[in-house]
Amino acid sequence: MTALEGQPPLQGLAARRAEIGHGFGVARALPVAARRTIGAWCFLDHAGPARFASGQGMRVGPHPHIGLQTFTWMIEGQVQHHDSLGHAQVVRPGQVNLMTAGRGIAHSEESVDTGEGGALHAAQLWIALPPEERQRAPAFEHHPVLPAVPLGGFTATVLVGQALGELAPPRVHSALVGIDLTAPGAATARVPLQPGFEHGLLVLRGSVRVNGQPLPADTLLFAPRGVAALDLACDAAAQVLLIGGEPYEHDLVVWWNFVGGSHDEVAEAAADWSAGRRFGPVPGTTLAPLAMPALPPGRLVARPAGG
Ligand code: MN
Repeated sequence: MTALEGQPPLQGLAARRAEIGHGFGVARALPVAARRTIGAWCFLDHAGPARFASGQGMRVGPHPHIGLQTFTWMIEGQVQHHDSLGHAQVVRPGQVNLMTAGRGIAHSEESVDTGEGGALHAAQLWIALPPEERQRAPAFEHHPVLPAVPLGGFTATVLVGQALGELAPPRVHSALVGIDLTAPGAATARVPLQPGFEHGLLVLRGSVRVNGQPLPADTLLFAPRGVAALDLACDAAAQVLLIGGEPYEHDLVVWWNFVGGSHDEVAEAAADWSAGRRFGPVPGTTLAPLAMPALPPGRLVARPAGG
């Protein structure tokens, strides 16, 4: 991908296909072989757009997390969240659910089923907590309204962090940003970036050009630190997700649904989940818990985040 004149080069990273509970397919843009994190963002699934028959859709049974925050940006459809703290919350289009795992939480997520099937289109992300926050108490936030401002012919909704003169309400623990950019038809915008942040841009709907070049579907455009702006354009309705943050400087172990700083941290969480300790049951769902895979032989190695 072409950078604007005088700017560091951009990199296109192909997402891979992955499945979440009950075989629902997603495009997984983070982590990929060439990049583990963008800022503290360490996981990005683009689910849908899809229509499904009754009984299908997203059906992710109870499973645990540590060391991260889960971040759901709903575009189409409705997903019911339940967690081991007792929260029951439907997330609807234009809304964000933010769950802080800290030292441990369990949750389930399932498409709201009216008996006539439904739709699902969402971005689901994880944010790695910095080491000093990994043991914090678990928490859950629902944000039904996010600040939005016009940017060229796009509407920029600030989902998290500070950008474009707005401060989004989700509570995070490192310097990062998330912005949805939506245009109802042909539009252009110069999108300012924070030079101290690295950024990623993913198409959610339609087709866009970045700095005059088409950005393929299921391709995460990576902009390293020092890129000051991207020129965004579309010829018809389109939607993209921009994420960014200060590069995450700590080594990480990411295994199954756990993020930690060491083998022991993750292995203890796995043992606690198996033994029914720490995380607690998830009231309100009838879905069966997800099966945890066996830990690989040997010790999990903490590796540097980033590229
Ligand atoms: Mn989860």
